Amino acid sequence: MNEINITAFGATDYVGRSSFLLSNKDHNILLDCGIELRPKQFSVAPKGVDDVASDLDAVLLSHAHIDHSGYMPSLSRNGYRGNYFMTHPTKEVVYRLWLDHLKIEGRRHWGESDLDRVFHKIRTLNYYKPFKLADGISAQFLNAGHVLGAAQILIDWEGTLILYTADINDRVTPMFDGYDLPKEEIDILITESTNGERYVPERSKIDVGLRLIAKQVTDEKHKMILPSFAVGRSQETLITLALDDDLSDVPIYIDGMINQMNMITEHFLSDKWVSKRFLEQLRDAGLHSPFEKSNFIPVNSISERTHAARRYIAKNTEGSIIVTTSGMLEGGPVHTYLELCGDNEENVIGFTGYQVDGTLGRAIYDGERSITIDNGRGRKKNLVLKAKVMKFPYSGHSSVDGLKFIMQKTDAQDIILIHGDKRNQNYILDYVKDVAQPRTLKEGVKTRLLGV
Ligand SMILES: [Zn+2]
Ligand SMILES: [Zn+2]
Repeated sequence: MNEINITAFGATDYVGRSSFLLSNKDHNILLDCGIELRPKQFSVAPKGVDDVASDLDAVLLSHAHIDHSGYMPSLSRNGYRGNYFMTHPTKEVVYRLWLDHLKIEGRRHWGESDLDRVFHKIRTLNYYKPFKLADGISAQFLNAGHVLGAAQILIDWEGTLILYTADINDRVTPMFDGYDLPKEEIDILITESTNGERYVPERSKIDVGLRLIAKQVTDEKHKMILPSFAVGRSQETLITLALDDDLSDVPIYIDGMINQMNMITEHFLSDKWVSKRFLEQLRDAGLHSPFEKSNFIPVNSISERTHAARRYIAKNTEGSIIVTTSGMLEGGPVHTYLELCGDNEENVIGFTGYQVDGTLGRAIYDGERSITIDNGRGRKKNLVLKAKVMKFPYSGHSSVDGLKFIMQKTDAQDIILIHGDKRNQNYILDYVKDVAQPRTLKEGVKTRLLGV
C-alpha cells in the first residue's frame, strides 16, 4: 500500500509561508518554503520545516514570490544537501528577491553563505519536462498563469498523480492566457483558495478604466502614482500602458526594483514562457519588449542623485505616470512620491493590487488620509493626503469559478484547500459542493492523502 501523507508548515487557512511536505515511509518531498510577511513586524518562518530539512529527497519551488520562497535558503543551513528544482525565470527572479530580503531583514533566517550553497544546487527546468525526484517519484512544471515562470507542480508518485497548484490565475492577463490543466486526470489536487469569496472582473474591463483615467489625469498635466508589486503586477501594468497608443507621448517613470524585474522579463519573452497572443501584440506594435518604449523612463537613468530625480519628476509641469514600489506602501520610493505629490488634490494614487490589513496601503485604501511616511532620507514625516485615491481591482489569483473548473476537470478524488483565509475557503466549500468536497489541513499535522 502506497500511503502518502501531507504536512503543512504554513498557508493552511491564510496566505503566507507556503510550505508542504509530501511523505511516505521512504521519501520526503518539499513543495515551496516561504515566509509570512507581517506589517511592521519581522517575518515568520514556516513552523516545523527545520526539523525535516536533513531528511528531504528533493525541494521544489513553484514561483519566486517570497511567501513561497523566502525561507528556502535556510534548508541548506539545516542540513539539506539536495537539489532545488524550479523554472529558469523563477531562478533569475528569486535570486533578486532573496538578495533584497537580506537587505531588509539581515541574517535573521539565513545568510549569504546559505544563499550561495542553494544557488549552486538549483536545477532549472522548462514547463512540461518530467524530471526525477527519487526512485519511483517524478515531477513536472505546468504553466500557472500567475507571474513569470510560475508553475503548478504535477507529481507522479509511483503512479499516483498529485497536482499542487501553488498560485494560479484563470484570467487572461497581459502575459498569460490563464493556467493550464494537466493532460491526464489526477488523483489528488492541492489548490490555492485566495479568491474564494471575491469576484474578479475580467482584466480587459479594468484595463479600460486604468487607461482612461491615466489619459485624463496626464492630459490635465497632473501625476498618477501607481504603487505596484515589483514581480508581476508592475510588469502587467506597464504592458497595459505600453500597448495603449493614446499614452505613447505620456512620460511613464519607473522606480525601484521594478526596473530589474523588467530586465529579467525581457530575457524570457518567448512562447516557452509567455502567451503567443502577447508576443503577437508586441509584434503588431513593432516592439521587441514592452519596456523599450521611448516614453518609459527608469528613474535612475535621469540622475545618479535619486532624490533629485524624484523631485524633478514630482515638481515639473508635465502630466506623467509613476509606477513604483512598494505595492502596499510599506516603504520604498513610493513614500517620496506621496510626500512630493500627495498634497495636490488633482493628482491620483491608483491601487493596482491587494492591500493586506495593517499596511499603510490598506489604511489609505480604507479612507485614512493622515499618514506617516519615511521621506527616504531616514526621517519620518506626518502628512495629510489630498490626492485622489482610486482602486483598480486586479488580482493575480484565480476567481472562484476558475477554482471550481480545475476541481471539475481534473476529477481528483481528494481535494485540499490551502493559501486562502477561512471565509474564502468556506465560500468555496459551498460554491463547489455539486462537483467536489474539498477539505482543509491543520498546521503541522501529518494528514493521509486519500485515493492513493
Ligand atoms: Zn504568488
Ligand atoms: Zn502565494
